[in-house]
Amino acid sequence: MKKSGSIIHPYWVLGLLFCVTAALLLFTVDISVTDEAGVRQKLPDTLGDQWEGFDVLFCQDPGCGRNWLTRDVPLNDEGRRVCPSNWQGEPCGGELLTMSLGEKTVLPRDTVMMKKQYINRENPENTVFTSVVLSGKDRTSIHRPELCLDAQGNAIESSQALEIPLANGNTIKVQVLLLNKKYSEKYTRYSYYAYFFIGKDRTTHLHFERLLWMSLDRVFRNVAHRWAYIAVSGERAPLADNAVYQDEIRNVISKLYPEISLLENK
Ligand SMILES: [Zn+2]
Repeated sequence: MKKSGSIIHPYWVLGLLFCVTAALLLFTVDISVTDEAGVRQKLPDTLGDQWEGFDVLFCQDPGCGRNWLTRDVPLNDEGRRVCPSNWQGEPCGGELLTMSLGEKTVLPRDTVMMKKQYINRENPENTVFTSVVLSGKDRTSIHRPELCLDAQGNAIESSQALEIPLANGNTIKVQVLLLNKKYSEKYTRYSYYAYFFIGKDRTTHLHFERLLWMSLDRVFRNVAHRWAYIAVSGERAPLADNAVYQDEIRNVISKLYPEISLLENK
């Protein structure tokens, strides 16, 4: 016998209920985007007695793209710092900012970027570059580091976790990439790139773990804290089994971490 057309099938009712519930959840659950970060918004001027830090500025002229230490660029008559000259030594005059033109174009406007070059006082040739990216409101400031490095023409030789013992007896883990970049037939630059992430109440060296914590915090705690992405990079010897670079990473990060982290048990 034919079913009556006037009766609405129960599945449709269930489906409708499901959609209404989903929509209510989507539009009414209030995620509090807080301004809470797990890091200080300033890189230290020194790391122990050994390393002295200098701010880095980036030329915004697309034809130049040169970077400078703030101390090497005096203020002009208007009290501003502008780029003295491009890589070819020709006068430039471009605006200088704390992030590169590429970063400024890609990153959300409220992203906080801190960069310093640390110079070894005993051996000024030995320098280490440190950057902190603190995400803004829309939380898209931090990308998978490997993608950016690849886009900059680096070949990634290896990737591994490294434990960093801290002065207070704790340890943290960082992810270390060994890179090389060929500038010409004769010159290849060999470098390391160590990174980790600090949230409001936790730290991790794994990008996917950071994303997982962000999702769990959103779903179960209704918060979206600002995560920071910390990177330390420097030069290394070509052979990957020469582990001198690991001592440098431990040395720098064990001093940097307690200075910037706001985590209680750091
Ligand atoms: Zn310039």
